Amino acid sequence: MSQASGKELNFRQSVDLMFNRAASFTDISPKLIEKIRVCNATYTVRFGVKLRGEVHTFTGYRSVHSEHKEPVKGGIRYSLDVNQDEVEALAALMTYKSALVEVPYGGSKGGLCINPKDWNEEELERITRRFTFELARRDLIHPSLNVPAPDMGTGEREMAWMMDEYRRLNNTNIDAIACVTGKPVHLGGIEGRVEATGRGVQYALQEFFRHDDDKKKAGFRGNLEGKKIIVQGLGNVGYHAAKFLSEEDGAKIIAVSERAGVVRNEKGINIEKLYQHIRSGEDLDKFEGGKVSDPDPEAICAACDILIPAALEGVIHMNNAHNVKAKLIIEAANGPVTAKADKILRDKGVFIIPDMYANAGGVTVSYFEWVKNIGHIRFGRLQRRNQEAKQRLLIEALQAKDIKFSKKFKQEYIDGASELDLVRAGLDDTMRSAYSNIKGALEENPELEDMRTAAFYVAISDIALHYQSIGL
Ligand code: GLU
Repeated sequence: MSQASGKELNFRQSVDLMFNRAASFTDISPKLIEKIRVCNATYTVRFGVKLRGEVHTFTGYRSVHSEHKEPVKGGIRYSLDVNQDEVEALAALMTYKSALVEVPYGGSKGGLCINPKDWNEEELERITRRFTFELARRDLIHPSLNVPAPDMGTGEREMAWMMDEYRRLNNTNIDAIACVTGKPVHLGGIEGRVEATGRGVQYALQEFFRHDDDKKKAGFRGNLEGKKIIVQGLGNVGYHAAKFLSEEDGAKIIAVSERAGVVRNEKGINIEKLYQHIRSGEDLDKFEGGKVSDPDPEAICAACDILIPAALEGVIHMNNAHNVKAKLIIEAANGPVTAKADKILRDKGVFIIPDMYANAGGVTVSYFEWVKNIGHIRFGRLQRRNQEAKQRLLIEALQAKDIKFSKKFKQEYIDGASELDLVRAGLDDTMRSAYSNIKGALEENPELEDMRTAAFYVAISDIALHYQSIGL
């Protein structure tokens, strides 16, 4: 057996092991490494809410991994599986992720032990508002100290409630709406935030396919066109990634593994249809665009080119990693591959694009939203028409010289950038430059070997530099 034999580590231990592996290649002092690695604080709040005639006690967490930059940033998840180890691991990933994609945040994460399906909308609102109050009185939600965002089980709706509750408590703070990101656009959110993490996965894959050496390592030719993809989890991230990759890049989603079952279609699944089918509450069995079978956690081990785990942590572990047949895994979820499985997959030559990079689209666009909130102006509002006027002038001058343009070209060229155009361009740029920083680290230090270790290396070096410069 490989080094991967033995006991599986929990999520936090897994992240620490991957961190330590990368740290061992730096020349940063062990004491500073320790400071960077540890989680600064985890707050547990227990609070009661009177619902259905009884007081129910809820447990929530907000973990602050690193405050080397503030505010600290990271989502809040609603799930019965939430526990301290999990939020600490996720908060640590937020620190490294933010450093890697150069957003000026420390890392944090929160969670509420709750199954959102157990409560109706009104009840969820009361629970969320009360949770927000508990966080606010400890400054664990605050535009300049700690800025939550959506995660598993939460979305725009919960962020709207949180923002509103915070604003009521801080009605003289002009920046109050910057206390959370992932809000609906009409409440200070930003275009493109909902799709952002999935969009980032698409941009990461597009960038991978621009690098011939990486493609060769993974055993690929050509581009994304026709590549066979298995997606695990059709939540917000999995849905958007699968939709964009199939509709815009010509990839084939040959299987989607969901809690309710597995859908397979070698010709490619129509993701929009499947998503709408699931949302409508219809039985998965009734979906006509593919073969539907019972839930199967091992469906991710079927033959394919690319595997996108986009649901929970730890789904690829030491007992199934040997069976994975994908050439490339792109981690859309946080921590889907355990440290033990990572070793097995590396030994097998599977190319892994790590979570810290692959799912950084969410926090990147959250950063744009936060900047927009603090600036109190929509991106592009001042420049758009001015840009259009100048572009129109040029086209008209060239047309006067008898140069002809198609209608489509003229329209596309003249149109000034909307907020969504700018957000997508900023995200694409972020994903490309982070990829190039990871590659740069690998080129300078070939002993790092893989993208995950190199991504950790870039993040750790950046945080160390921060501490070294301020003389801590
Ligand atoms: N929950 C997302 C993540 O894990 C987004 C965090 C954010 O936008 O702050 O990266």
